[in-house]
Amino acid sequence: MGPDDEDNRWPPWLKPLLRESFFVQCKHHIDSHKSECNMYCLDCMNGALCSLCLNFHKDHRAIQIRRSSYHDVIRVSEIQKVLDISGVQTYIINSARVVFLNERPQPRPGKGVTNTCEVCERSLLDSFRFCSLGCKIVGTSRSYQKKRVAMAASDSEDSYSSSSNHRRSKSNNSNNNSNKIQSFSPSTPPPTSVNYRTAKRRKGIPHRAPMGGLVLEY
Ligand SMILES: [Zn+2]
Ligand SMILES: [Zn+2]
Ligand SMILES: [Zn+2]
Repeated sequence: MGPDDEDNRWPPWLKPLLRESFFVQCKHHIDSHKSECNMYCLDCMNGALCSLCLNFHKDHRAIQIRRSSYHDVIRVSEIQKVLDISGVQTYIINSARVVFLNERPQPRPGKGVTNTCEVCERSLLDSFRFCSLGCKIVGTSRSYQKKRVAMAASDSEDSYSSSSNHRRSKSNNSNNNSNKIQSFSPSTPPPTSVNYRTAKRRKGIPHRAPMGGLVLEY
């Protein structure tokens, strides 16, 4: 299970597509009014394309990126022909069903949410596992699933109750899992030595006069 194996799970254009910035001015067609780049060629994988660029990709599989509140989306009708998007939540935007390319930052998960993205914890409708194609790539990678199994093992109970307390303890667990260096430095010295040291130090400290008297003299 080397890194190559991991990469072959996805079509070669997917990760470059998710990294691309769209809706920028086309570098090659600066003078054109229609030069906003909202297309991507799955065969050439050469970045965001404007409608003029697209003339050079006539027989290629090009896909159109759309925007929803400043986030990139793709119509399900286009993407599902070339990619398995199962588990990724779809949204109806402008009467078309779409998926988000990448996770969107959010302040914190809402209260009473029962189902969240396995990667970024955005709240989702039941039956979906990921908020976006990007989270699906991360969440279905073998290394990530191994981590989840480890997390589940350290969690005493199943994680279906998703109160905010539970969520917090879950993320703490994941932190602990990532730094396993703990064992190198015992955080607390053996109790006997502690007692000895504090007892010895106490002897040396002279008794302090009460503060009250000093303050009154001013
Ligand atoms: Zn092309
Ligand atoms: Zn162009
Ligand atoms: Zn997500």
